[in-house]
Amino acid sequence: MKLNFGGVVPLSTIDWPGKASMSVFFGGCNLNCKYCQNHNIIDKENFIDISELSERIEESSDFIDAILITGGEPFLQKEALTLLAKKAKSLGLEVGIQTNGCFPDRLLELIELCCCDFVSLDIKAPFSDSKKYSDVAGVEVDVDKIKKSLNILKKFTSSNSKLKENKENKRDMGKKTKKDINKNIEDKLNLNKKTNSLNKELQSEVTTTLFPGKIGMKDVESITSNLEGLNYVLQQGKTENARKKEYRNIDEFDAEEMREIGKNVGYENISIRTKEGGKEKL
Ligand code: SF4
Repeated sequence: MKLNFGGVVPLSTIDWPGKASMSVFFGGCNLNCKYCQNHNIIDKENFIDISELSERIEESSDFIDAILITGGEPFLQKEALTLLAKKAKSLGLEVGIQTNGCFPDRLLELIELCCCDFVSLDIKAPFSDSKKYSDVAGVEVDVDKIKKSLNILKKFTSSNSKLKENKENKRDMGKKTKKDINKNIEDKLNLNKKTNSLNKELQSEVTTTLFPGKIGMKDVESITSNLEGLNYVLQQGKTENARKKEYRNIDEFDAEEMREIGKNVGYENISIRTKEGGKEKL
């Protein structure tokens, strides 16, 4: 099978914090974001046989914990992605995917195949402003598809389920009798047994890339209102190599401005990712 291939970073400890990972870039994307930094791999095609990449991952498997598949948009090449993810899992590696969220059905399929341990979903603008979303993405975007992808993350993300459970528990505790509480614990144990047998303990994050005058505080507030406790990362937009001129000529937010936006938004699970400091939990 052929893969439109964008390249690899053989070993990184930054791309997937806490893991020694290989980043694999798939070529091609269905979007055309004005601030895209990877246009060199979305504009041209470079087909290789997928066995070449499989061999490379196998050779590295003693030195890495995980592969992080990014792009471009990995779900555009669904068969190649599934094959590679299965190969990595068979080698005992974890699999992470960075996606723009336009292919919720494919995302769900991969999660249900237990071929995905981590998903990073990029939400580019508020759902309530589809015009702005499409403007940033450079093409008409069906925002409902991104919403669907977000709902999949809410459903399968382990920490999110626990966060919601804890909040509900605290709320309900005062009203319940001892018998109710015991029944609740039994139900949860049964549910946990089922979940564990399917091995769907997904880790996830949602990201948004910020640019002064384009995507800022108000957009972040609107996006967080949909996240229900999922980890959220504000990324410092880079302007130097941006695809469109209008994004090349603006000043970037500096780390302090990023922190200020993150802190003022009042969302619990928020981090920033900057060039200088990498990922920083606020
Ligand atoms: S920034 Fe946009 S165009 Fe570039 S790879 Fe990501 S989704 Fe595709």
